[in-house]
Amino acid sequence: LTDKLQNVFKNLRSKGRLTEDDVKAALKEVKLALLEADVNFKVVKQFIKAVEERAIGADVMNGLNPGQMVIKIVNEEMVALMGSETTEIAFQPGKAITVIMMCGLQGAGKTTTTAKIAGKLKLKGKTPLLAACDVYRPAAIKQLQINGEKQKVEVFSMGENQKPANIAKAAIEHAKKNGNNVVILDTAGRLHVDEEMMEELQEIKKAVEVHQTLLVVDAMTGQDAVTVAKAFNDQIGIDGVILSKMDGDTRGGAALSVKAVTGKPILYVGMGEKLSDLEQFYPDRMASRILGMGDVLSLIEKAQENISIDENKEKEMASRMKKGKFDFDDYLESMKQMRNMGGLASILKMLPGTGGKGMDLESMIDEKQLARTEAIIFSMTPAERKNPKLLNPSRKHRIARGAGVDIAVVNRFIKQFEQSQKMMKQMPGLMGGKRGRGGFG
Ligand code: GDP
Ligand code: MG
Repeated sequence: LTDKLQNVFKNLRSKGRLTEDDVKAALKEVKLALLEADVNFKVVKQFIKAVEERAIGADVMNGLNPGQMVIKIVNEEMVALMGSETTEIAFQPGKAITVIMMCGLQGAGKTTTTAKIAGKLKLKGKTPLLAACDVYRPAAIKQLQINGEKQKVEVFSMGENQKPANIAKAAIEHAKKNGNNVVILDTAGRLHVDEEMMEELQEIKKAVEVHQTLLVVDAMTGQDAVTVAKAFNDQIGIDGVILSKMDGDTRGGAALSVKAVTGKPILYVGMGEKLSDLEQFYPDRMASRILGMGDVLSLIEKAQENISIDENKEKEMASRMKKGKFDFDDYLESMKQMRNMGGLASILKMLPGTGGKGMDLESMIDEKQLARTEAIIFSMTPAERKNPKLLNPSRKHRIARGAGVDIAVVNRFIKQFEQSQKMMKQMPGLMGGKRGRGGFG
């Protein structure tokens, strides 16, 4: 996803300014990229619509940095889609025991995540008890016991010949006697969503009061993970989701859709097989990760350095040119801008009809010459800069002394200035704000 979007934003960058068409074209790319990342189709549609509604219109059209603006909106909408804020497991107040039921398909990472969460809770001063409610795979109980040992948390089990609901009940009784304030039920999954599994989970919920039902889904299964999440939420009701295996080659699609489809937040992401590899889920970080935002933002920044023209100034200057009011202050400003744009020569070459004749192109491009020109303008009084007609011989002499140049140089510059003034009047479209044209970007 990242590579793909990088390209999208590279294209945005090179345009400098976005029109409605640009926004639509760019979002078309974003849409394809998201679909490719296995984001749910409905979610993509809704997402693109939301971004489009915000991007097309006053904000973008008037904004100085439309490219950055669109990225900002894409990012914000992504964060919103994933739940805006970090959600924590909700605990029962006071000394009451919080019962957490883990659920999910077989191999999703329930048992591993149960132990991972237990480690986190211990750090928070909780005293978790893990209950082995997966009675179908002989190895499952053993696996939980091994993980519990690693985390130094107690594991409650009753072997394989008990109903999961009964084990849950007994585990809570055990917790009461033992002083555990959290019980985590590690349940059995199935290869696919099926009735038996759902019934079993419902039975547990009937038998004991479950305060938090947490679903573990394998992020690597992409859109399937979202379908699974929806099924679990519809049939037994979940409070939060843990996306496991985010360290795998996942394209982030599941992270983007889960909240949108189930309305339930992602609490944690599994980042590896080790029991310490569980991270809090931060929607903003995930958005950055999906977008590759860090890189994109720096690209945009660079682009902005190159296109550092203040649009208002530019427009104002263009209208002044048309009216023939272009003065020395404008000249200074335009020199600054041309420098920013990196290469006066390339711009001048684009001008129709100049062809380098009549104007000393090479010397205008010369940095030393530019600096001298600046010195001359700096030696003018504000009134002189505003009104070149004031420049009589005595003023010109004063300016020459101030700039440390010969009076001939001042005269030549003023003549050149008048020439360009004329040229600008003849070509009102030249600085008319169409920055996309003529290599200004
Ligand atoms: P369960 O059947 O839902 O209990 O799944 P398990 O907890 O037994 O995990 C299935 C496999 O996935 C095991 O090999 C785990 O080590 C692995 N696993 C679980 N979570 C993660 C994770 O976040 N990253 C990686 N790379 N592997 C994980
Ligand atoms: Mg298991």
